[in-house]
Amino acid sequence: MIVMPQPDEAVLARRGEIVAALRQFVPGEGVIDAEIGRRAFECDALTAYRQLPMVVVLPETTAQVVDVLRYCAANRIKVVPRGAGTSLSGGALPLADAVLLGMGKFKRIHEIDVANRCAVVQPGVTNLAVTQAAQAYGLYYAPDPSSQIACTIGGNVAENSGGVHCLKYGLTTNNVIGVELVTMEGEIVRLGGKHFDAGGYDLLGVVVGSEGMLGVVTEATVRLLPTPPGARALLIGFSTIEGAADCVAEIIGAGIVPGGMEMMDRLAIQAAEDFVHAGYPLDVDALLIVELDGCGAEVDHLISAVESIAGKHGATTCRASQSEAERLLFWAGRKAAFPAVGRISPDYLCMDGTIPRKRIGEVLLRIKQMEGQYGLRCANVFHAGDGNLHPLILYDANEPGELDRAEQFGQDILRLCVEVGGVLTGEHGVGVEKRDLMGAMFNETDLNQQQRLKCAFDTEGLLNPGKVFPQLCRCAELGRMHVHGGKLRFPDLPRF
Ligand SMILES: Cc1cc2nc3c(=O)[nH]c(=O)nc-3n(C[C@H](O)[C@H](O)[C@H](O)COP(=O)(O)OP(=O)(O)OC[C@H]3O[C@@H](n4cnc5c(N)ncnc54)[C@H](O)[C@@H]3O)c2cc1C
Repeated sequence: MIVMPQPDEAVLARRGEIVAALRQFVPGEGVIDAEIGRRAFECDALTAYRQLPMVVVLPETTAQVVDVLRYCAANRIKVVPRGAGTSLSGGALPLADAVLLGMGKFKRIHEIDVANRCAVVQPGVTNLAVTQAAQAYGLYYAPDPSSQIACTIGGNVAENSGGVHCLKYGLTTNNVIGVELVTMEGEIVRLGGKHFDAGGYDLLGVVVGSEGMLGVVTEATVRLLPTPPGARALLIGFSTIEGAADCVAEIIGAGIVPGGMEMMDRLAIQAAEDFVHAGYPLDVDALLIVELDGCGAEVDHLISAVESIAGKHGATTCRASQSEAERLLFWAGRKAAFPAVGRISPDYLCMDGTIPRKRIGEVLLRIKQMEGQYGLRCANVFHAGDGNLHPLILYDANEPGELDRAEQFGQDILRLCVEVGGVLTGEHGVGVEKRDLMGAMFNETDLNQQQRLKCAFDTEGLLNPGKVFPQLCRCAELGRMHVHGGKLRFPDLPRF
């Protein structure tokens, strides 16, 4: 069970005064004070955790964001930024004594710049809307999270989101070339832009993936790519998970970089097929969807190369899409796999660990064994080409103890990912979900260094606290905080 920092009673006592002050910066319906309105923001997609925010503020302009942050910094009020609230790691989970800063009204696409192959957008624009706006020019935005109809560019930047096509075209960090952000003190900072590499430290790289803890993104410049001239997808079924996993490793080893290479296990295949009727084979233990893109001859050549590798690894079925409609149908099942699993279980936890590709088969078998140990089912549907696992642990929150068991199961999976040389997250972020596991991957020195970086942007630790770091530190005290003789220094600091 994850414990959040204790609310600051002094801030809560000033709630009325704080709401009145915020209304001066953001007029009308931009400040939501009534409980019924705040309820809508009480959780993100990590629905096991809920917290009513102190107040919700929905600014529409960068000047309003500046005013709100300046006021909050001066009055030591915490702020939790939020996009569409689809985070699976609890990154946008509100705090009882914090302002929830919803960026959903920032939804203008400022510019599609064809000559520079980029788009300048506000952070509340949905991921899919960028591609839709660019399509008329033969361009698209490559990172495509399965949540792309809802999730926002601001959330994508904060989580360094990925998607099925990131194997070949890179994650958000490879496709965002500039941001404007407002620091907790209300300073507007511009990093990167339409030009290639800026001099100095790669601060843009620091901001992408910083989980709303360094600043509030108010604009992003994203790379647009030409839509590939052609693409075909292969559905390849295997009677064993190891066969599919070895096939993935050999495809990459052969120097082929598919546009996407996803794997689903039996439970995920069944759930997706029942939901979407994508034509998936139901008599296999593992299914690969491999997309090859490029010009016609190149695609045909790669299709036969992948088919022959699949044959060597015991593929029992292999079907190539014969039309664009069929290719999209193959992907529709994969893209709807999370909601499809939601239909077969009252609740599920979606894990997100990344491992070296060669270890996929072995790790999936260990997860199967853990299913027996915890008495819970687990469906696997994931970015196999990147080694980015998404085990979905099925549970029923109404059954006493099941959430705890599911969380322990998830933690064991993530520890296993680190044990085999992987990392705790591939694309969903640490948030609150993996916060207490950070020690499995980083030592105290590593974590202190990371917190020093946060301090450089947010000295008082007011922006999205309680996420990512297992222990809060004050900037001045970093590096000098250890337990000595059973006593912690600075006992007034919140620890959870
Ligand atoms: C069904 C489903 C499928 C998913 N599939 C994928 C997938 O394939 N790949 C993937 O990577 N993720 C996936 N996700 C996770 C999620 O959609 C992404 O993490 C997404 O980027 C979150 O965007 P959001 O707008 O909902 O952000 P939120 O959930 O609102 O916030 C996420 C984080 O971003 C911060 N934030 C939001 N806006 C700003 C801003 N303007 N400035 C600073 N910080 C900000 C928040 O503080 C929080 O830490 C999926 C989620 C669901 C529910």
